[in-house]
Amino acid sequence: MTIATFIRSCIFVSFVCLVAASAVSAPVPFKMNEVEYDITVKIDPANRTLEGKSLITVHRPRELQLLLGAGYEVTQAEFNDGPLGIGRDQANQPHVWNIPFHFRQQIQFLIQWKGVLAPLDTALDHRQTLARPVAVSGAEGTFLPDSSDWYPRIAGLFARYKVSIELPPGQKGLVAGRLIEESDSEQGYRATFEFSHPAEGIDLMAGPYAVDTLLHHNIKQKPVQLRTYFHPQISKLSQDYLDAVKGYLDRYESEIGEYPYSEFSVVSSPTPTGFGMPTLTYLGIDVLQLPFIRSTSLGHEVLHNWWGNGVYPDYRSGNWSEGLTTFMADYAYKEQESDAAAREMRLGWLRDFAALQPGQDAPLTAFTSRTHGASKIVGYNKAAMVFFMLRDHLGEAVFQRALQGLWTTRRFKVTSWQDVQKIFELVSGQSLEFFFAQWLTRSGAPAIELTEVKNAAAGSGYELSITLKQSEPAYQLQVPVAVETQQGSAIHKLNLQQAQQIFTLKLTDKPLSVSLDPDLRLFRHLAPGEAPPILREVMVNAATQTVLLSDQPEIRKIAETLASKLQDRKLEIVASGDPLSAAPTLIIGLQAEIDAWLATKQLPVRPNEISKKGSAQVWTLARADGASLAIISAQDAASLEALIRPLSHYGRQSYLVFDGRQAIEKGTWPMLVRKVAVE
Ligand SMILES: [Zn+2]
Repeated sequence: MTIATFIRSCIFVSFVCLVAASAVSAPVPFKMNEVEYDITVKIDPANRTLEGKSLITVHRPRELQLLLGAGYEVTQAEFNDGPLGIGRDQANQPHVWNIPFHFRQQIQFLIQWKGVLAPLDTALDHRQTLARPVAVSGAEGTFLPDSSDWYPRIAGLFARYKVSIELPPGQKGLVAGRLIEESDSEQGYRATFEFSHPAEGIDLMAGPYAVDTLLHHNIKQKPVQLRTYFHPQISKLSQDYLDAVKGYLDRYESEIGEYPYSEFSVVSSPTPTGFGMPTLTYLGIDVLQLPFIRSTSLGHEVLHNWWGNGVYPDYRSGNWSEGLTTFMADYAYKEQESDAAAREMRLGWLRDFAALQPGQDAPLTAFTSRTHGASKIVGYNKAAMVFFMLRDHLGEAVFQRALQGLWTTRRFKVTSWQDVQKIFELVSGQSLEFFFAQWLTRSGAPAIELTEVKNAAAGSGYELSITLKQSEPAYQLQVPVAVETQQGSAIHKLNLQQAQQIFTLKLTDKPLSVSLDPDLRLFRHLAPGEAPPILREVMVNAATQTVLLSDQPEIRKIAETLASKLQDRKLEIVASGDPLSAAPTLIIGLQAEIDAWLATKQLPVRPNEISKKGSAQVWTLARADGASLAIISAQDAASLEALIRPLSHYGRQSYLVFDGRQAIEKGTWPMLVRKVAVE
């Protein structure tokens, strides 16, 4: 593939909804509203056959490229009533038609094609599905991702479409859009969908679905049809999902503005995957059964109908939609839960960021979509924190009005970070140039230090002088500093503009201690030891070393598989007798081997929280020099093997106890706010 294609996708990792619009390669410039597809597609999942016919209309045509995947045979191809040719010289090549510039107002193509789809492989995980955008079909499900080029498409142009789907009895199918016609009989199922806004592409899903519905009225009292397309084994979950979607629509309509579509569907997938498209979300059967998905990921997916699938990110200047969606969904739910839960999430973001290597970090303007753990830490988390800091800077009311302005002015438009900045400037009446420039175009984060605190009596009160230092080039920051007195703790915001500045605070009560940003409201480098160690450090840090303690080949092999699953790169294995390096280290072994190794290295014994519980224990510890260790201890080969699938989902934890595959206890070591005592 030489031409950019998009898939709109949600990715589940750590069972937290992580959604991405994944650009397979750098997108090409696009124009809106110039292309229309009228497609009829007949699919037989039992035989995995697809037959399609498409009438493509291009208004105001220029030089174009028309594409169809390699796996299809073209049986008819016409261009303005003349023959077009099949677009390739050899079988197994993609069909590519290069169309020269046209002076006509409008041109049309008529293409008929057919092919055999790949078999559905339910063993694939989401990442494999994403890495391999292949159209698959089987009795349990059919998924034709847009990026598989399952229909002839004009490269790089947004399009409106109408798609009619024909399936055998017992199957139902859909694409994003409004259901305008439907029939279900002994002859089979037929449904026609229309998408009347410019869309990035068309994804088609089908399966042995039971459909449940709920009618919702939007904020302007227009009807919105909510549906679940669920496999029979989970149809009992339908009502809860429909109610939850209704709740999210109400919430985001009141926060942002009218929901732009006439439907929303939750569709089950036989593979453990997650995709978000306009008007629907496509989630694995297993994922849908997880109890927390309705209260977390589902809301994130629904919100993408505003940010991402409603206002389109301009990938050329960075994708802002994941950060804003994470901020208004995942993070907002934590704020609703408690201040402590919200702070814990910010700590998680900063901690993950601190575990990145310099090469893994990139400015937000370079983020297009999630491709690996490190890109999520910047593209989702840092961007969400940028919106959090922006709200702190502007205040809740102005921030909210700006979001509403973004929605009313940019609906269905390709929108850059600069456009987002302009709206916030317009609504707040202030320049935000410094704010956006430093957070978007720079990689990294400021490292801020409280270097000196001096107190002097002044009249009936006190003068407290605080010296702050930051890395260069300096950021412009409102640094929250907590000053504790006998009357309690008060936050002072210090306007730090230079590499080093001294601030003087006049106080009536005697200051006892000072702490820097204890509530974690700034995106910054955590000081060494500020955050307790977690498992993710050995997962994302490319310098991580791995120690396999066992000599038994069977155990070593399992340990190696487990380490590879956690680290997702070539392992750097060091001998158990080697001295520990300054890099994070992952140690895997059986219980007795681990205990002996800890004793040899003069490291603390296994902590009380996990001691001897379950069939396997995992914990982190920070060494005096700041480097962290993650230790995996299992009672036998089977217990170790049982960790391969679940463990990578627990990167945020400091310790875990497993009983087989089940995590029965988990937690993070407490964080200590470092207070500088005032003399
Ligand atoms: Zn998302």
